[in-house]
Amino acid sequence: MSTSTIDPQNIASIVRQVIAEIGQPSAAAAAPVAGPVASGSLAGANGVFSSVDEAVRAATDAFEQLERLGVDGRKRAISHIRRIAIEDAEELGRMEFAETKIGRLDHKIEKLGVLGEKVPGVEFLQSQVYSGDHGLAVIEHAPFGVIGAITPVTHSLPTIACNAVNMIAGGNTVVVNPHPSGRQVAAEGVRRFNQAIYRDLGVDNLITLVAEPTLESASELFGHRGVKLICVTGGPAVARAALQSTKRAIVAGPGNPPVVVDETADLDRAARSIIQGAAYDNNLLCIGEKQVFVVASVFDAMMAAMERAGGLRLTASQVDALTKRAIVMAGEGEHRHPVPCKDLLGKDAALLAKAAGATADERLELVFGETDLDNPFVPTEQMMPFLPFVRCRTVDEAIERAHESEHGFRHTAIIHSTNVRTMTRMGRLLDTTLFVKNGPSVAGLGLGGEGYLSFSIATPTGEGVTTPLTFTRQRRCTLVDDLRILGSPDAVA
Ligand code: NAD
Repeated sequence: MSTSTIDPQNIASIVRQVIAEIGQPSAAAAAPVAGPVASGSLAGANGVFSSVDEAVRAATDAFEQLERLGVDGRKRAISHIRRIAIEDAEELGRMEFAETKIGRLDHKIEKLGVLGEKVPGVEFLQSQVYSGDHGLAVIEHAPFGVIGAITPVTHSLPTIACNAVNMIAGGNTVVVNPHPSGRQVAAEGVRRFNQAIYRDLGVDNLITLVAEPTLESASELFGHRGVKLICVTGGPAVARAALQSTKRAIVAGPGNPPVVVDETADLDRAARSIIQGAAYDNNLLCIGEKQVFVVASVFDAMMAAMERAGGLRLTASQVDALTKRAIVMAGEGEHRHPVPCKDLLGKDAALLAKAAGATADERLELVFGETDLDNPFVPTEQMMPFLPFVRCRTVDEAIERAHESEHGFRHTAIIHSTNVRTMTRMGRLLDTTLFVKNGPSVAGLGLGGEGYLSFSIATPTGEGVTTPLTFTRQRRCTLVDDLRILGSPDAVA
């Protein structure tokens, strides 16, 4: 089954349209960019720096230049990021796959293409106006300045590109500390974006990056005086670090999205949706389906529907074998907890099948099997295309189990049901940022569902799917008594 969500012809027409609008040659046609890391002179570095301090200085300089270019300058800068994400999706997607060695090549490419199309821009910055007997007040959305961003290995360049579009739309510049295992593709993308923007607008370093990122450089970025706001996308440790920071932080933290299937669901549709969402990029997405709770009266029928939809069902002993291989313990004492084993994280379903002692076609998208509630796959964010299915007596029990397994992250939950009261009960109890009904998790990001896209979904800090507005400050400008044209002419002195 194909999980493709974007039509390649559609991408081609968007590329043509964007190129026609900005009248620029393709960045892909430019000379290959493998330049050295800049030190000393900041202009001409194309965003890649050896230290946090240099990167922040360059981004500060770029911020001042961007302010002078106005909203139209932001719009043009963003159009280059979109165009390169679309045009170079195949080349950059291949680089990301080769470097990170996790996920699926087709989806690495697709993620870059869709972000070029679906991430919102300056049109989100609508001012509000209040006019009344006392005159006029205008609320505008102003930039913060330089933003420090931490990005994950699961979507290294897509997260940077998404963040850059949103942040530049809001008038900011950004310094990125990428995940060390995705730093090369991050640097290559950042170089290409900056080169194209520089050629068109004469401003370099709107997006800067630390070439050799470490935990130390991340914490230096958190504490740097020149950084006005932090945006972190990642797992529990970095989310905790950002929440403890003295600066304001937008935190896109971890998830462990549960799925509930009740006796009123369209089981074949549910099965197709679960496979589409959980198999996407080998289940690396933070919103991807991670464990499924099914009402007992339809449990066996649901397992059969999963097989019809193309999933491979493991036997109990195969599930045991996979669990032993795929989940390991980390931490000490009371902090000891199960985590996915690195060599199976983000790997293909066929490899998981092999680890379980089953045989599978290379094109297999998802492995699944019945487990009890105590199986470590249930509480763990496994980030691999195996799903545990847990049998529950009633839908209330399923919702309760789903709630426990989500750990209060309030990230994403999914239900397949046609009973609106059941949907409402689950929505209220889990209280998640994304709640998808009768579709794949990716529909919650506008891929096959309505709405816009971002790969940073701010969960503990509450901003939700980030947009340009997330990265702005409200400023109110008040004019007393004048400029209001309603009212009696006599009232004007
Ligand atoms: P990770 O937490 O290992 O790394 C994320 C980033 O944080 C990396 O750049 C890493 O170097 C840095 N980092 C890690 N610990 C740190 C610390 N103590 N101080 C400073 N920086 C630190 O996560 P990952 O494996 O790259 O990505 C997967 C995780 O990210 C999953 O938990 C997933 O749910 C989450 N995620 C969330 C969203 C979202 O929008 N909410 C999006 C993508 C991924």
